Amino acid sequence: MTINSGGGFETLAIHAGQDPDPQTGAVVPPIYQVSTYKQDGVGGRRGGYEYSRTANPTRGALEECLAALEGGPRGLAFASGMAAEDCLLRAICQPGDHVLIPDDAYGGTFRLMNSVLTSWGVSYRAVRLSDPVAVRAALAERPARVLWVETPTNPLLNIADIATLGQLAHEAGALMVVDNTFASPYLQLPLALGADAVVHSTTKYLGGHSDVVGGALIVADPALGERCAFLQNTTGAVAGPFDAWLTLRGVRTLAARMDRHCANAARVADMLAAHPAVAEVRYPGLPGHPGHEVAAKQMRGFGGMVSFRVRGGEQAAVAVCGRTRLFTLGESLGGVESLIEHPGRMTHASAVGSPLEVAPDLVRLSVGIETAEDLLEDLRQALA
Ligand SMILES: *Cc1c(COP(=O)(O)O)cnc(C)c1O
Repeated sequence: MTINSGGGFETLAIHAGQDPDPQTGAVVPPIYQVSTYKQDGVGGRRGGYEYSRTANPTRGALEECLAALEGGPRGLAFASGMAAEDCLLRAICQPGDHVLIPDDAYGGTFRLMNSVLTSWGVSYRAVRLSDPVAVRAALAERPARVLWVETPTNPLLNIADIATLGQLAHEAGALMVVDNTFASPYLQLPLALGADAVVHSTTKYLGGHSDVVGGALIVADPALGERCAFLQNTTGAVAGPFDAWLTLRGVRTLAARMDRHCANAARVADMLAAHPAVAEVRYPGLPGHPGHEVAAKQMRGFGGMVSFRVRGGEQAAVAVCGRTRLFTLGESLGGVESLIEHPGRMTHASAVGSPLEVAPDLVRLSVGIETAEDLLEDLRQALA
């Protein structure tokens, strides 16, 4: 597949890595559902392909497209977001290294650090990333190899200033990684703001249709990209051809979907903020959100995730989650359909008693791209 880069975001999403198939003219890159490739004589690899753990054209198309969208030289596609995170951290860290993670990190990231990588001699500490003074102090106290950033965070939608944290990390000799899952490259480009690497759960907005689990890495330094590719091939958690194809199918409409996610989420947030049964709304697009200004500076839109606290406590919050008809009760996020969940008992149940514990009256919405009025009405009847 030839490189087809250049153009605006929407053009890249539809064309980068996706030239028509040279053999047939098929306008969509085919699913190369194959493990091995005929060689023209020993070592005569066609297009460099030898075995699909190492490289596969369908996965390659996705990797090239994601690299173009994030503005990095190298993209790698994995079987899940967690596989991408694990690969990146092991490519960067040695035993004895220290990692700073957000004090409200994605639960899986916390578990990877806390339950797996610590056994391999990599230590971590949780810091409040919305507070650069605290980050500077933590970096001064103990040298870190990696500053792991998430913004917006899950489920509180806290905002970290990527450019400021990048400067602090680099001054302290650390690399900055940004988990860009919640924003997607359409809304936020961490590499341009100083990140050394971006990770994604492509399961969420990039795939966008709740039909595939996947992950990706995009790295700024080609040498680090090589190390990650080596580790990816060595440990093997690659995206399969069909999963890569499905993800790329989703990526083509990312811009159009994100615009609608943002518009619908803004309307939902406004409605909730004025609703008497709601105690607090967390949405970075609301002027009262503590990260609103930073979000407005570094994002092109405020995303599709909204969290809110229900008056009446845990029981009332759980009841709301059970009463929606259009919002489906379920974990995950970023699909075209709207989802609702109770983080305290669902996605963040394992965080009880840890620094990641969330308020029991919190409800999280992944606002989909259905008709906005229908979404508002569903929430109104659930809150009534
Ligand atoms: C879902 C998610 C992950 C993990 O991705 P998987 O595809 O589920 O392995 C990582 N970070 C964030 C912010 C997520 O939402």
